[in-house]
Amino acid sequence: MPEQPSNTTRFQAFAAPARVLMGPGPSDIPERVLRAMARPTIGHLDPAFTSLMEEIKALLRYAFWTRNELTMPVSGPGTAAMECCVVNLVEPGDKVVVCRNGVFGGRLKEMVERCGGEVVLVDEPWGRAVDPERLEAALRAHPDARLVAFVHAETSTGALSDARTLVEIARRHGCLTLVDAVTSLGGAPLHVDDWGIDAVYSGSQKCLSCPPGLGPISLNERAVEKVSRRKTPVQSWFMDLNLVMAYWGSGSNRTYHHTAPVNALYGLHESLLMLYEEGLEAAWKRHYRHHLALRAGLEALGLQFIVPEGERIPQLNVVAVPDGVDEGRVRRRLLQEHRLEIGAGLGPLAGKVWRIGLMGYSSRPENILHCLDALGRVLATEGVRVDAAEAVRVAEQALAGPAVAGGAG
Ligand code: PLP
Repeated sequence: MPEQPSNTTRFQAFAAPARVLMGPGPSDIPERVLRAMARPTIGHLDPAFTSLMEEIKALLRYAFWTRNELTMPVSGPGTAAMECCVVNLVEPGDKVVVCRNGVFGGRLKEMVERCGGEVVLVDEPWGRAVDPERLEAALRAHPDARLVAFVHAETSTGALSDARTLVEIARRHGCLTLVDAVTSLGGAPLHVDDWGIDAVYSGSQKCLSCPPGLGPISLNERAVEKVSRRKTPVQSWFMDLNLVMAYWGSGSNRTYHHTAPVNALYGLHESLLMLYEEGLEAAWKRHYRHHLALRAGLEALGLQFIVPEGERIPQLNVVAVPDGVDEGRVRRRLLQEHRLEIGAGLGPLAGKVWRIGLMGYSSRPENILHCLDALGRVLATEGVRVDAAEAVRVAEQALAGPAVAGGAG
């Protein structure tokens, strides 16, 4: 018997601490979804599982507001869904316009380059939406571009781009479009078919309120044709949609491709069912309404949004850290003293902003009030002159007010 590599006697079941998740994701998971994931595992080729797969596809079509046949969850996080779309849609030598206004646009650029694509960058300042005129100019300068890729809701900065207009411009210039909807799906208006989006991907852990690890995608016929007519095989075997569709496609002759994460898919099904029960438009409105209440409270605390009004993601509120405040200490104190997670800044915004998410099941009145109360109290003891009670009061007032226009598609 070889010697044990380390002392394992101290190991025991992990006790997850209670948290309120108001960062950039994951968001709070409803009890219903957690319970669904605890159901007995069945075989992934079991006919009962096939029925579940069909329902997940149908519910995802609802969430994406599309009729696309090729709509399914990739077995992997949002980045895997992003990679799946890029490796399938980009061939060596393809010219691709990538709009970069934060971390995730930058990730798209790197992926396109790794696939041998030639990137034309439309670079925007962090904290701003993609400027449609700059996309138009780039496409005029590069009439041989084949694809336009951009992030709808840039989680690293809080900026929401006008996807409908960007897609319309791209189509006018004969390009396919690839849209990152990781943070927008289920939280802000997104009409895949009506806006003419060719390929879109998302993640399970944001406004769908499902644990991380699944990446829904949807491709229309134009995008599928591009994939099926490739001159070169997709470099990734696992991601090759021509192969994956034999597994996720309809019909009785489903064949083994990989072993789907069965219980994670129970969770996704349940969370999509909850979205369906609430109604997509009602969910968009809820996120918008709660954004307004949180915004009122954050402004009462003297905090300023870094994204101009009209370009903000309702479900991700990004505010500047007041001068002289240690941003990391405030976040640590929120977690330790108030069980509350909010997000830090990334890249050039590290140390300068907080990212406060109100996504999916996290987007509830009690979370808004808890966040304002906790943040107000912590800031007050960090030397900032704030009135937490007043912030809570204005948010309560906004929540009690009449229904607001906005947030609908
Ligand atoms: N795209 C955006 C806009 C995101 O916010 C994220 C994650 O935060 C991703 C892509 C990557 O998703 P994941 O972290 O699930 O891989």
